[in-house]
Amino acid sequence: MTESKGISSAVVAVGDELLIGETLDGNGSWLSKKLTNLGTPVTGRWVTGDDPVAIKQTIMTALEKSELVIVTGGLGPTIDDLTRPSVAELFGLKLIVNQSLVDQLRSRFSTIGYEMLPVRNLVQAEVPEGAIIIPNCEGTAPGLIIENEGKSVVLLPGVPHEMQSMFDRSVTEYINKRFQSRLDPILQRTFNTSGIPESLLAEELDKDISRFPSDVSVAFLPGLQGVSLRLTAPFSGGQGLGSLDFCENIIETTLAPYCYSVGKKSIMDSLAECLLMDKKCFAVGESCTGGLISKHITDLPGSSRYFKGGIVAYDVATKSGVLGIDKSVIEEKGVVSEEVAALMAERITEVMKADFGIGLTGIAGPDGGTKDNPVGTICYAVAGHDQVISFRKIFQGNRESIRERAAQAALFSLFRILTNRQD
Ligand code: ATP
Ligand code: MG
Repeated sequence: MTESKGISSAVVAVGDELLIGETLDGNGSWLSKKLTNLGTPVTGRWVTGDDPVAIKQTIMTALEKSELVIVTGGLGPTIDDLTRPSVAELFGLKLIVNQSLVDQLRSRFSTIGYEMLPVRNLVQAEVPEGAIIIPNCEGTAPGLIIENEGKSVVLLPGVPHEMQSMFDRSVTEYINKRFQSRLDPILQRTFNTSGIPESLLAEELDKDISRFPSDVSVAFLPGLQGVSLRLTAPFSGGQGLGSLDFCENIIETTLAPYCYSVGKKSIMDSLAECLLMDKKCFAVGESCTGGLISKHITDLPGSSRYFKGGIVAYDVATKSGVLGIDKSVIEEKGVVSEEVAALMAERITEVMKADFGIGLTGIAGPDGGTKDNPVGTICYAVAGHDQVISFRKIFQGNRESIRERAAQAALFSLFRILTNRQD
């Protein structure tokens, strides 16, 4: 067979529980990501039941387009685990008991207190003639690789953590060796933004993106933490790296007011970096987020170095009593107002003896909205360095999303101040 450039792969997930929707095909998406990053684009993904005919047909279909097919699930010892015999039959291979696998299974069972190896587990020691065995350090079902007419079918168990560790320990190495120069890994660079909706960000970046080289593709990924812009390019012997650098230079200025990190860093990671660098600390007085901002901060180990603490001032009496906010301001401006948020930020800074304070009050719904302050209205403020900056925004979504978006926005506003990017 003459080898063409590029190698494509496919994923087949086997299991009735996947077909009936009881279990989400997490293995499929995990494998897709891994294969793509390894440089073998996934051309198709299938989910099939525990049925020999369907398993064989699906693998055959997958092999029509791809030279590498990863199958997950159905390698266990029970009668519904049919992947191994189905694949052996598909390639006309005899199943042969592998003595060293039998020994491994025996010793595995004896370490967990079973003197006898359950008879049902013996099928897991049956290997299609000529198959490569992939050890399973975390379970009983070994993985198998069958090479046929220049193509490879890799069988992995369905249990996610077993499948993942086997892929990382053994399959990656196999793919790298087997397909070597034909792999073209992809490079990705993700810019995480906050404070701008997807469509506006796209509009602002329109001109910049039109100057991108053709090997770079762009994706806008909106989420509760903001909108991420992901750039993807094939590695192509290093050329892709240059393309991504070139694009980053182009978008840098446009993204600057909104971008809080590149890669996997959250707003909290970026904020923590700034606070540690500036040797500053902050505190939070939050109402409708009910402690969510404080939770996000304290999710990071070591946050006591820059986080003084938080007060959930939920009730009006707590806002005035504990935080000492003038009742007349609450009555005149309303509890959900920039003025009250500003006072909460100022007071929490004083109470906690912090450099900065965040105050936040709003209506997360589903009830409590008014004409002036509909559900989703959030007022937040950042105090510190002899100034208070306040905001009033209306966030979309259900109670959970509104609270998450509000927490993100408030943290982002402190980040902007620390990085001198406030309006
Ligand atoms: P076992 O030895 O446990 O029987 P197996 O290879 O036969 O391994 P399955 O029986 O298919 O695997 O699945 C085992 C567990 O893994 C089940 O809880 C199942 O829900 C889960 N699982 C199977 N396939 C997937 C998948 N594609 N995505 C996520 N979870 C999966
Ligand atoms: Mg099973």
